Amino acid sequence: MQPVIHRLDTPYSIGQVYCYSLDSKDGLILIDCGVPTDEAKRYYLESFDLSRLRHILITHSHNDHFGLAAWLQARSGAKVYFPRRDYLKARYRREFLRLLGDIMQGMGFGNRYYQRLLSIITLAEHYAEPPEDLLIVERDFPKNLGLDFIACPGHSQSDLVYLTGDCAITGDTLLEGIFQTPVLEVDMENGGRFNNYEAYCSSLGKLAALAGRRILPGHREMPKSVRQAQLFYIRKMLRRAGRLRPWRNEANIGNIIAEMFVGGMTETFHVFLKSAELLFMQDFFREPERLSASLAAIGLYDDVAELFDQALGRTPPRSEKNASGANL
Ligand SMILES: [Zn+2]
Repeated sequence: MQPVIHRLDTPYSIGQVYCYSLDSKDGLILIDCGVPTDEAKRYYLESFDLSRLRHILITHSHNDHFGLAAWLQARSGAKVYFPRRDYLKARYRREFLRLLGDIMQGMGFGNRYYQRLLSIITLAEHYAEPPEDLLIVERDFPKNLGLDFIACPGHSQSDLVYLTGDCAITGDTLLEGIFQTPVLEVDMENGGRFNNYEAYCSSLGKLAALAGRRILPGHREMPKSVRQAQLFYIRKMLRRAGRLRPWRNEANIGNIIAEMFVGGMTETFHVFLKSAELLFMQDFFREPERLSASLAAIGLYDDVAELFDQALGRTPPRSEKNASGANL
């Protein structure tokens, strides 16, 4: 099954989102579906055979990827599948938001900030209601349709990558030339903060194993190679981590933002995104060997060893390397 790409505009800075359809023996399967704008709806009505749409699968439940699901289901009767954790997030949305508030409070954000954030993330343009009739990819999607999936969380707590033939439909896990912020979420398994860093480290190997496949991302250019996309992300992360180092043990994330950006970052949603990134890097400082081991296992550590040391503040000059070439 060769995926057909559908490029849909979004109102977000990331630009277009790419959705992919596959013609299976059971009719059309759509992977991610775009945002509920009039333009996207017109696209599906005019350029897509809704009468043959049977299954809508979601990589992760961010609005640009799932927002149109309820509308499409109402017009096609297609089954909609969310990754298991995102299914829980959708079903227990109020609980999710309440626990997110607790987490943000623990990060030093007061109730006034959280109320402002809530008023933004619950806006229809940021969160469309998922369909009432919702299934779970891991549990409910038929196994005989020539489509497989693997979990590569890190950007979110879900991030499923769909595999068909030599193609990998990768959502937001491998993007070309952009650092896709890990998003702060309540871990739907335990009600605490989802640890994006741990998840990212354990997904690195699974993503590296996609090398050689055709990578079909959720946004931007097609990645030139898995390795390059991973290296871009890690380098960017390590450089930013190096700047965060003086604040690596500061629990009040609000204070870090105020001090690092000297009052230059105040917009509510940007602060939310930046907080998640800073937590990701603080988790890195707590356990850098988790990342170095994952990188070494896929042969990427040597490419970033110097940056790694700089981020951690141990920057040995090249001449101080020992005879085996390993960094001291
Ligand atoms: Zn996205």
